[in-house]
Amino acid sequence: MKKSIVTGGAGFIGSHLVTKLLQLGHSVLVLDNFSNGRRENLASVISNPNLLVKNVDLSEFNAIESFDGYDNVFHLAALADIVPSIQRPLEYHKSNVDATVNVLIKSVEAKIKKFVYAASSSCYGISSSVPTNELSMTDPQYPYALTKYIGEQCVLHWEKIYKLPTVSLRLFNVFGPRSRTNGTYGAVFGVFLAQKLAQKPYTVVGDGNQKRDFIYVSDVVEAFIKASQSNLSGEVINIGSGKPKSINNLVELLQGDVEYIPKRPGEPDITHADILKSNQLLNWTPQVSFEDGVKSMIEHIDYWKTATVWDSEQIKTATKDWFFYLH
Ligand code: UDP
Repeated sequence: MKKSIVTGGAGFIGSHLVTKLLQLGHSVLVLDNFSNGRRENLASVISNPNLLVKNVDLSEFNAIESFDGYDNVFHLAALADIVPSIQRPLEYHKSNVDATVNVLIKSVEAKIKKFVYAASSSCYGISSSVPTNELSMTDPQYPYALTKYIGEQCVLHWEKIYKLPTVSLRLFNVFGPRSRTNGTYGAVFGVFLAQKLAQKPYTVVGDGNQKRDFIYVSDVVEAFIKASQSNLSGEVINIGSGKPKSINNLVELLQGDVEYIPKRPGEPDITHADILKSNQLLNWTPQVSFEDGVKSMIEHIDYWKTATVWDSEQIKTATKDWFFYLH
C-alpha cells in the first residue's frame, strides 16, 4: 500500500486530493493547521481507516513528526489571498516559505520518493508572453505570489542539493466545489456564488472582459497524482486549461445582475497557461470543460450558505491596502 502525506489536506484542493488518494488505495496522513482548512471538507472520508488527520503548525520544525515510511509528500499547505499578504507579510513568509523548508527537510530525512509542490501561476505577474510557458519571466506582484515563488525556489534547490525528487505544479485559477471561503475577500467563485445565493449582484471588476485560465479541481488532482507517479524530478509544470474564459462569460453561466467595481492594480488582463509541457511530460490533459465545472459548482452551491456576501462598498474597504500599495 502506498503511503502519502498531504499538507493542507483539509483545504479546497487538498481535500479533493485526499479523497482521490484514498480511492486509489493509499494510506493518507493529512497535516493541516486548520487556518483555512475545514474538517467538514474531509467529512465524506473521515471514517476511512486509511486516513489520519493531524493538526500541526508546519512552520514549527519541532512540531513535525518524522515522515519515515511514507512514499510521497504533496505540499499544498499555504496561506492564500492578496490583501492579507500585503498586511501581514511575515505570516505569509512563515507559512509559505519557512514551512516549505521544514517539510522539505523532513522529506529528505525520510527519503521521500516524490515531493509534489503546489506552486502558483501568480509568479508570472502580468506576463508579456501569452500563452505563458514555464520559461517565461517571473515577476510576483504581491507578497502571496512572492512567498509561493520563493517556496518553489526552495523545492528546486532541495532537489539540486539534497537530490529530493520533486515536481512543482504551477496552478492557474483552480475552481470547483469547496473552493475556499474564509471571510477574506478573495477568489472570484466564492464571491460570486455567495452573491448568487443571496440574490445580490455580481461585483464584476473592470468591464468583465478580463480572462482567466480556470481549471477544474478534479483535473488538478489528476495532475498531482500523475506527477507523483512520474519519473520526473526538478521540473516546473503549468497546470491550467489553456482556454481562458472572461468574467462576463462566467456571469452568463451563473445568471444574475451585475454591479461593476474598479479594476485593481497588479491584475493581469489575461492569464493563459501554455500546457504543452504537462501534456508531454505528464501525459495530462484537462477533462472538465468550464461550462460543466460551473454547473457542478452550482449544484454544490449550499457550501457557500455561510460565506460572506460582498458588495461594492465592503470590497472597497477590504481592498484599501491593495489600491494603496500596488499601483
Ligand atoms: N473578479 C471579479 N469580481 C470579484 C472578484 C474577482 O470580477 O469580486 C475577477 C478578477 O478581476 C479576475 C478574476 O475574477 O479577473 C479572478 O479573480 P481571482 O481573485 O479569483 O483570481 P486572480 O485575479 O488572482 O487570478
